[in-house]
Amino acid sequence: MIKISGLNKIYKSKKRKKCHALNDINITLPDTGLVFVLGKSGSGKSTLLNLIGGLDSITSGKIEVDGNNLSKFNESDFCNYRNAHIGFIFQDYHLINELTVYENIVLSLDLRQAVDRDKVKNALEKVDLAGYEDRYPSELSGGQQQRVAIARAIVKNPRIILADEPTGNLDTNTARSIIDLLKQLSKDCLILIVSHNTSDANNYADRIIELSQGKILSDKSRNSKFKDEITLKGKNLIYPAGTCLSDSDIKLINDNKTSKLIKQTDKFIDTAPMEQQPKRAYIVNKGLLFRKKLNLSSKFLKNKSLVITLSSFMVAVIMVIMALAQTIITFDGGKIIASEMMKTEQSSVLLNKAVAKEKAELLDTNYRAEINEGDINAFYNTGYNGKIYPVFNVTVPISSVKNTLGISSSNFGNSIYMKEALGTLAVDEEFLKRKFGEVKYLAELKNPYPEGLIITDYIADCILASNKNYQGQEYTDILGECRPAGWTYDSVKINAVIYTGYKEKFSSLFEKFYSGAFKKTKDYYDDKEFQRFSNDIYSSLGYSFSLNPNYSEVAYLTRDFGSHEKTVINGKEFIDNSTPYVSFQNIDECKLFGENTIIMSYKKYNEIFGTSYDTSTIKSFTPHSITLTSYRYYDVDNQNPLYTVEFTIEALTTASDTFLIAEEMYPELEKTMRSAEVYCYSLYFEGTDGIGDVLDAAETLNYEPQSFSIEGVHTMTRAVEVFVPIFELIGIILAVGVVFIFVNFSSKMINGKMHEIGILKALGTKNSTICVVFGIQVALIAFL
Ligand code: ADP
Ligand code: MG
Repeated sequence: MIKISGLNKIYKSKKRKKCHALNDINITLPDTGLVFVLGKSGSGKSTLLNLIGGLDSITSGKIEVDGNNLSKFNESDFCNYRNAHIGFIFQDYHLINELTVYENIVLSLDLRQAVDRDKVKNALEKVDLAGYEDRYPSELSGGQQQRVAIARAIVKNPRIILADEPTGNLDTNTARSIIDLLKQLSKDCLILIVSHNTSDANNYADRIIELSQGKILSDKSRNSKFKDEITLKGKNLIYPAGTCLSDSDIKLINDNKTSKLIKQTDKFIDTAPMEQQPKRAYIVNKGLLFRKKLNLSSKFLKNKSLVITLSSFMVAVIMVIMALAQTIITFDGGKIIASEMMKTEQSSVLLNKAVAKEKAELLDTNYRAEINEGDINAFYNTGYNGKIYPVFNVTVPISSVKNTLGISSSNFGNSIYMKEALGTLAVDEEFLKRKFGEVKYLAELKNPYPEGLIITDYIADCILASNKNYQGQEYTDILGECRPAGWTYDSVKINAVIYTGYKEKFSSLFEKFYSGAFKKTKDYYDDKEFQRFSNDIYSSLGYSFSLNPNYSEVAYLTRDFGSHEKTVINGKEFIDNSTPYVSFQNIDECKLFGENTIIMSYKKYNEIFGTSYDTSTIKSFTPHSITLTSYRYYDVDNQNPLYTVEFTIEALTTASDTFLIAEEMYPELEKTMRSAEVYCYSLYFEGTDGIGDVLDAAETLNYEPQSFSIEGVHTMTRAVEVFVPIFELIGIILAVGVVFIFVNFSSKMINGKMHEIGILKALGTKNSTICVVFGIQVALIAFL
């Protein structure tokens, strides 16, 4: 029994005014019978049904169903209540199109975990649809679909069936058969039908409740004493109220003039008050099994395969691009180099201090920046476990003229001999032992120079092989003052030649070399043994060594003035070979002029000062002083002068040398100039433990590795790094894209299924279950 008292439903919406959909409704409904709810559109009929069915919330008042106060129900109680007691039938059937007739009906039972094929069969027989189990809703007529909806409602033996205009979409005959069916069913349960059809109500209803503007206009029950016929009782004609008399009725009255017309009692009389029986209904608390949720999910995904395939494909493509982006972003050149070095058994790395890249166009590749103590400490601070040695730019120059072997000796152009040593490593004896085993001297000076070098037998062989002057000579012949290239100013002092065993180690390479197997540069680099050989050159064979702990202080003694500087006079820069140097030939001429004086080429003078002296007018030159400042080539902003000197230009000369400065006259200046020529340009890292971190730090400290494989990987790293920000951006965009596609797809999927969600809710499905059903779909797509 349903007892409704003081029930109000007010809809509030932000824009529109309040709508009092139900206004103080008081009715008590029995356990069985067919109750029609009549009223104009908007009178509150659907609202009343929805409140009884727990699909909407009560504003005030009370609905008690078998003693259960619906106002006290929570969401889950409502689900259980609908699941257990309520069967909904709607105007537009509300079947789930993805499910067959059988599946639609059995869903009601699934929800309470009480599947019973016979019950479904019975229900279908009752609605006269036996044999239609496997059809889909789209394959049925409107009437048939509504009967399926009725079967779905009755299969669970509900206490109450709420039918909101169940015949609204059906033709008269079909509608009648549906009402007939409901009439039959109402013997066992309470059926509330919302309808516009008064004649159906009159014909079938046990009770008619009429609503108007949310209020009960009338509430009438069928009068048991009412007979729907005109009868003659004695002289009395008894007729139902509202009867329209026919011609025969009139004749009957005329034939019985004495008779009396008696209006029969009403077909419907006001509903008598009912007493509520205290009774508690049993409410099941069960939901869909997970298997069934999964099943429902997959049914909903049917016909979506194209969308799913496309979405999955798109997501897959995006994932691949993101993975690529990830790879590039996390590309670790340092680690790759370290492992590459392990593979090629390379035990050391040479890092050149590179000049800032934006200034590179000013320089030729040999110019390198000077290294300071801070850099070395910074590299040790990366956690590097090996030892770092400075490499000075004192090299052993080897002539580039064609040697007797017919090999041009460019730096590995197409020879295994080098053009010059890689520089001078200031080391200790232990270093040499680690590199070459017990140090064995093949030639040695009795009184070594403090600035003198120890060279490897390989460098010595380079000298002997490359320069005609040393052809056929011994190692002892190149000790002491040595000018391997034969040029006037490039001399070195060689203290000793040490044994490295390279000839034995690479004997087959040398055999190949002498047999002429290497023709092109590529042939060398393709040769595995040559690769190992060049590794050795870069890690030991190609250097000169000094065991003097004060080498950096005496190194200048080995150097003449070169061309690594630029001179600035009167704010004018000379980046060419016009740097000042001592002219040996003109010392006497210079002496004539005294201290702090120079003589210089008149052509250069004209160039600097914009004058136009010629050989005939140089005699009229008036001496004046100039300030000469020297900088490194790469010091584009002239920030760090190597030295500054003030000179008086005493005279102009026709000699071609730019400046003529007598070295004997300016020993301090000479030392400064020579020192500027000797500097540490590279760092030698002995050992590979932690080299990855060193290489990573090198990039920020402006160092560049000098080695084939390392150079390659490093170039790659730099190339890849260009793309890192782009890929980071792409990564972010794609990640947002994936989320967007996902959210879009999921929300579309859920929006597209609002209808089905409504049906599931009406059937008593819990919110959590609905979430799981759709969650499974999203997860399924994510998985795909
Ligand atoms: P009926 O079913 O009798 O045609 P309803 O019960 O659907 O009428 O509606 C009763 C009144 O409540 C109507 O005025 C309708 O506009 C209003 N109404 C119904 N549902 C809502 C809602 N969700 N929000 C606001 N007003 C509503
Ligand atoms: Mg309605």
